[in-house]
Amino acid sequence: MSDVRVRFAPSPTGYLHIGGVRTALYSWLWARRQGGSFILRIEDTDRERSTDESIQIVLESMRWLGLDWDEGPAVGGAHGPYVQSERLHIYAEFAERLIASGHAYRCYATKEEIAAAREAHQKTGTKQGFRFESPWRDRTDPPADPNVRHVIRFRAPHTGATRWDDAVKGTIEIQHATLQDFILLRPDGMPLYNFGCVVDDLTMGVTLVARGDDHVINTAPQILLYEALGARVPEFAHMPMVLAPNGEKLSKRHAAVGVLEYRDMGYLPDGVINYLARLGWSYGDQEIFTRRELIERFSWDRVGSTAGRYDGKKFLHVEAEHLRMLPDDELARLTLPFLGKLGIDLAPDDPALLKAIPYIKPRASTLVEVAEALDYFFRDVVFEDKGKRKFLVPDNADNLRRLADVVDAIEPFEAETLESAVKAWMERDELPMKKVAQPARVAMTGRTRSPGLFEVMEVLGKPKTVERLRAAAEIASLAGAAST
Ligand code: GLU
Repeated sequence: MSDVRVRFAPSPTGYLHIGGVRTALYSWLWARRQGGSFILRIEDTDRERSTDESIQIVLESMRWLGLDWDEGPAVGGAHGPYVQSERLHIYAEFAERLIASGHAYRCYATKEEIAAAREAHQKTGTKQGFRFESPWRDRTDPPADPNVRHVIRFRAPHTGATRWDDAVKGTIEIQHATLQDFILLRPDGMPLYNFGCVVDDLTMGVTLVARGDDHVINTAPQILLYEALGARVPEFAHMPMVLAPNGEKLSKRHAAVGVLEYRDMGYLPDGVINYLARLGWSYGDQEIFTRRELIERFSWDRVGSTAGRYDGKKFLHVEAEHLRMLPDDELARLTLPFLGKLGIDLAPDDPALLKAIPYIKPRASTLVEVAEALDYFFRDVVFEDKGKRKFLVPDNADNLRRLADVVDAIEPFEAETLESAVKAWMERDELPMKKVAQPARVAMTGRTRSPGLFEVMEVLGKPKTVERLRAAAEIASLAGAAST
């Protein structure tokens, strides 16, 4: 194993957003490419917003996507626990170290004092944001009662700057002038994000921190913490956010953002990974990548520094390509749960299913579409109104009946033999294709769009085909009768 160690550190406060998944994906690809380790860490210190259910959603999402982790919840590892709320003793220990070295101090300022300072700041009318200057930064006298509730603050520098070479954004420099003495630990021992994150990345031996660029502002405080602890600063890679088509931050208002929604819509994990990988990373003009290819080709220098915009159509196109790459029996197997949702329960080796899949495959983008396209093979026909009104009319009744007689006599009942026999009949009777094809399609499928006519017949088999053509002929001959 190489010494590359990367991590994904979601806050479990709801669904797993596809923007977050992209961050996880890049780190995962990097770890797999380098033969390094991919760590999953749950940042649940926001106790009000974090739920166990959300942790389960994170794990389920990652598993569904096939982004396996080498260390983390459920798999363990040498640097655990991997859930922040279980690591409070570690943060306490590091906070003590920083106090001992003079980099941090206990701040006993009360809420009221802070509120008064904020109010006084507002009264000055200055545009500069409020920065609480704690009197305890320089006080050496002990508080009246040292056990009184207090926070631990970092003694931040007010001059100079912090600079790093970001793997995606290049050199970034942040001036210290506006930095405040940020809080490391709350009175209840919960770390604030910057501190928890640094202690964890440091103790977990993370070598590269990849995350969204909304965290650029946190990186200077984090680097200062590493330096104060005398630790090696990891590399940073800050990715632009995933944007909506209109340039806003991508949210529920624009598209499905929870990754499991894509699972439920019948997207394939490899397609999701391909689409998200390309949303911000490129490799020449290539659009379609297998998982293996992504691992072989991923590198940080090809991650763009401008935000990718979500494009639902393109996403579906990528999905369709991955669907076509699946072997037929695999596609059949993956479609079963979606057929189940339609009330169609089949065995994975159902002969009609295996026969139909190759005809459906070129026309579908998702597993839901595959299941819907298979519906009429396994259930009674449900006629679409428009098709029924247009094609199941008295004029077509006789042709449907005769077609039923023609196909009834054909053996073997296969697309090719059916096609040549039906075409020979139409030529003999000088019937144009349009007089037969669409009425027959509606008769057999209830729809005006389907795979080829003879393919549909083959999958349905002779009894059902003949029965449906005859039943439709009946409907056609009676159509309009009520109103005349
Ligand atoms: N819990 C943070 C988030 O979800 C992690 C940021 C980081 O990767 O450092 O935004």
